[in-house]
Amino acid sequence: MSDCIFCKIAAGEIPSKKAYEDERVLAFYDLEPQAPVHVLIIPKEHIASVAEITEENSGIAAHIFEVAARLAKELGLEGGFRLVANTGADGGQTVQHLHVHLLGGRSMKWPPG
Ligand code: 5GP
Ligand code: ZN
Repeated sequence: MSDCIFCKIAAGEIPSKKAYEDERVLAFYDLEPQAPVHVLIIPKEHIASVAEITEENSGIAAHIFEVAARLAKELGLEGGFRLVANTGADGGQTVQHLHVHLLGGRSMKWPPG
């Protein structure tokens, strides 16, 4: 997707502060952190949102969770953390490339707004 900002970040065309990278995913720090630790984990392949996850491509979702667990340990989130995947207009998704927010370093509230 040539006009997708997260595809450009995944390709290194837009700089980001990396937290983790492998051949399938990139994790980088959010520009507007909502918690002391706020990392976005994205597939390098363009998938628009969780609504596009199917039996065929769900391996990437499992991998994103593996990376989240590893990063949470590395970043010292022993007390817990939150994963968020805003999806679609009602979900508050603003970037149309699948991403999971890894939030931690403070106590979270429920329900979200
Ligand atoms: P959404 O609202 O779609 O769940 O989350 C999109 C997130 O991407 C927001 O938290 C926003 O701060 C972050 N974001 C948007 N553009 C950029 C960017 O160019 N670089 C980084 N690091 N984060 C971005
Ligand atoms: Zn994209």
